[in-house]
Amino acid sequence: MPDRRGLLIILSSPSGAGKSTLAKRLRQWDESIVFSVSATTRTPRPGEVDGADYHFVSDAAFKSTVSEGGMLEHAHVFGNFYGSPKAPVQAAIDAGRDVLFDIDWQGAQQIRNSDLGQHTLSIFLLPPSIIELRRRLEARGQDSSDVITKRMQKSWDEISHWDGYDFVLVNDDLDATESKLRTILTATRLRRSQQPDLLSHVRALQMQFEEMQ
Ligand code: ADP
Ligand code: 5GP
Repeated sequence: MPDRRGLLIILSSPSGAGKSTLAKRLRQWDESIVFSVSATTRTPRPGEVDGADYHFVSDAAFKSTVSEGGMLEHAHVFGNFYGSPKAPVQAAIDAGRDVLFDIDWQGAQQIRNSDLGQHTLSIFLLPPSIIELRRRLEARGQDSSDVITKRMQKSWDEISHWDGYDFVLVNDDLDATESKLRTILTATRLRRSQQPDLLSHVRALQMQFEEMQ
């Protein structure tokens, strides 16, 4: 048995607030973190790799995985389906590895309410301002202005769920936010629920204590 249980780390934010940038930085800090590769029915953006950024699937394939119970959570976002395949997550956390999810508030809610809810760490990122959020989306250079406008319209919907998360960080300075994320993760890994060996250790202490009486 691994000496700790893996965590399900959920990062949510309005699009452009910095989830993927910070997720990459966290993995550079700790390479054992596994990224959950979501399935989606949207078309790939230039440069996106099937199986690495997303599993790009048809509507029919997505629906059949959902009906077979193969998704830990799923949601309809920006007119497309997105979901987190269950099997790789279970395998990783059983092996004591943390899994990081870049998912929206609907997915976060479903995971929190699932059997794995007690092993979840959820973090919401807020932008310093709405103007800065738009600037970041434009600076990323991935989307047309139509898509950026659509993402901006959806951003309040996402932000309005900020209070369902364990931690909320304003991602102003990137280095400072990364450092806070490391602190949160380091502490959460020590949560009682993440240490399967604690009970037997306490029992051993109890026996030693009784032998001394
Ligand atoms: P998300 O994954 O939440 O949609 P990204 O990580 O793609 O957002 O970030 C959007 C853009 O903003 C990227 O170009 C990224 O480099 C930039 N960015 C992220 N965090 C910061 C920050 N704290 N300060 C300035 N720019 C940032
Ligand atoms: P994008 O199309 O920009 O990659 O993602 C759009 C939104 O869908 C983001 O808010 C992202 O967090 C969310 N998303 C990506 N994958 C999943 C998933 O598997 N489940 C859920 N619920 N949301 C996801």
